[in-house]
Amino acid sequence: MDIQEEILNLRNEINKHSYNYYVLDNPTIEDYEYDKLFYRLQDLERENPHLITPDSPTQRVGGISEKFEQVPHKHRLYSLDNSNGHEELKEWYERVAKEALNWVKGEQLPEIELACELKIDGLAVALTYEKGIFVQGLTRGDGAVGEDITNNLKTIKAIPLKLFEPVNIEVRGEVYMPVSSFEKLNAQAQETGQKIFANPRNAAAGTIRQLDPKITSSRELSIWVYGAVADNYEWGRISHSHTMNYLKHLGFKTNQVTIVKGVEEAYKYCENAKESRHALNYATDGAVIKVDSNKLQQELGFTARVPKWATAFKFPPEEVWTKLKDIELSTGRTGAVTPVAVLEPVLIAGSTVSRASLYNFDEIERLKIGIGDDVLVKKAAEIIPKVLEAKKTEVSKDIKIEKVCPACGTPLVEIQDEVNLYCPNNQSCPAQIKGRLEYFVSKYCMDIDGFGESIIAQLVDKKMVYDYSDLYTLTYDDFLKLDLIKEKSANNLTDALEMSKDCTLSKFLNAIGIRYVGREAAEILSQNFKDIEDIKKATIEDLNAVEGVGEKMAQSIYNFFKNEENLKAIEKAFSLGVNPKNNYQINENQVLKGKSFVITGTLEKFSRDKAQEILKSLGAKTPSSVSKKTDFVIAGENPGSKLDKARQFGIKILTEEEFIKMVEI
Ligand code: NAD
Repeated sequence: MDIQEEILNLRNEINKHSYNYYVLDNPTIEDYEYDKLFYRLQDLERENPHLITPDSPTQRVGGISEKFEQVPHKHRLYSLDNSNGHEELKEWYERVAKEALNWVKGEQLPEIELACELKIDGLAVALTYEKGIFVQGLTRGDGAVGEDITNNLKTIKAIPLKLFEPVNIEVRGEVYMPVSSFEKLNAQAQETGQKIFANPRNAAAGTIRQLDPKITSSRELSIWVYGAVADNYEWGRISHSHTMNYLKHLGFKTNQVTIVKGVEEAYKYCENAKESRHALNYATDGAVIKVDSNKLQQELGFTARVPKWATAFKFPPEEVWTKLKDIELSTGRTGAVTPVAVLEPVLIAGSTVSRASLYNFDEIERLKIGIGDDVLVKKAAEIIPKVLEAKKTEVSKDIKIEKVCPACGTPLVEIQDEVNLYCPNNQSCPAQIKGRLEYFVSKYCMDIDGFGESIIAQLVDKKMVYDYSDLYTLTYDDFLKLDLIKEKSANNLTDALEMSKDCTLSKFLNAIGIRYVGREAAEILSQNFKDIEDIKKATIEDLNAVEGVGEKMAQSIYNFFKNEENLKAIEKAFSLGVNPKNNYQINENQVLKGKSFVITGTLEKFSRDKAQEILKSLGAKTPSSVSKKTDFVIAGENPGSKLDKARQFGIKILTEEEFIKMVEI
């Protein structure tokens, strides 16, 4: 392959992965594999500068989706160049110091003050404040144009809506998902068979770019602010560290900035950060070293993609070789069977790892893994340890995994469009029965205190319960039949069961195990349907018309409420006193059900949020951008490009008065 061809291939490959990563929030390769492609392209272009084109990924930043309104940035946002290791950090510093030398006109390379910070692995945003009020928030997008995610950003409590001073300022920061929230979200997703996020960065990006701000708000995001720009500013003339102090003073959440002198001290900072980061509740993938002086920053300037005055010292992914002792299968409550690698315990990223996920049977085939193999295990931002590679050793043995359920011995089956294999014996597989009951009593479901794994296991093994409705037939005397349960615990368990009968509709819907319906979807259903009877009556179209309920989920809810066994369990639970109440007010008059409205410009009589609330209460959907599926566009004062798009697609345009008439308020 000649160089030109290799360059073209690399660009295509990188563009494909950038699209998956930035637009779909769904990368299909590891970051370090992507970085390898990127560095190779950079090297080839450096050696052959005549082959550089402006559309090369090395000349551009990120990517942009059409899901949200696209807004040009007033001040461009950049990416960061990387320094991999001590040598590259020194090379970057030399370039900076040479520029400084021109500037101070001295003889020796000066010891430059550098601001060292953690590199937060999240999603870059630009927040605009006018007279101290938060007015707009954009993603970085491609650096020149961002996506308008203002409403979602408003749900993040760490973003001040009003500053301590009435200034005009544009602030940059990284929105991230705390590791604890990420783990909770993935545990929930695993339970409900929904998408598992690869790492906190993807989870944050996927959450902040949700079309429904309610979903964003339920997922606990936060932000670290790391810079600011403004047209006229005094505070920004001095140094980066000075700006950061000013941002803190305005009410922003800023992370620690450590000022050092010269490259060796900066390197020491990076090495320390590499170790200490494991104790943090947020993911960092490196340190950022910035020239502190704003004057020197200006002298150094930018390339098309990055500032020359900063570099990201990337931490290498933490990978350790160990031995594979065994592969175990585990059956979850939905019947999905996942293979788990049992490892010779090793220390990675600050914790001992003895098990790693193998995700599914395809992964076992891809890795060609066998017992006794040396396996490369990684635990970086991913949190859940993962097997990357397997190598045969002298003691390696081929492994033939019998595709049967480890709990009940039933042969596993495939389900169309799913990578997992399933145990089809959902009626009597003990692992599924126990899993469903453990889920039913858990915190975000019925939250029944005291029913741990061992009590559930005993109840199932002694054949005292089969499904969740049987729990409500249990008496004080029944509990006394269980091992280690004395009078006091039996009393507590009886009381806890009794208390759980008064629950919310959303908790009940989450608890009963409808495939694809987790905590969020249960909330959405409660906002749109009065009670269980109302959901039972819904057609697939009715369900699919609800914002946040996709085709697959609609079908699954519909099937669930057509299944005799499920209906019997609900009826039995209700007859034993379970009484879910809907804490959302549902407007009986769902006259706009299934219709989709987009608002552009400023309305005179309502805020945009209020108008959307009214529309939703009448059953309408309110996406933020116009597509061919939009039914109406409501145009207020100073409408934006959405109005042009509406005209282009021939969508009915309503004035504010027409909208008011339509909703009769
Ligand atoms: P980047 O994430 O490496 O670095 C730039 C970003 O760092 C800035 O935009 C800013 O958002 C952020 N940042 C965090 N803390 C900061 C701080 N304290 N100060 C300043 N900035 C800070 O660059 P990028 O261009 O966003 O993305 C490249 C990264 O994305 C690479 O690591 C690459 O591996 C990954 N990627 C992966 C895939 C894939 O398919 N796996 C595809 C595309 C990109």
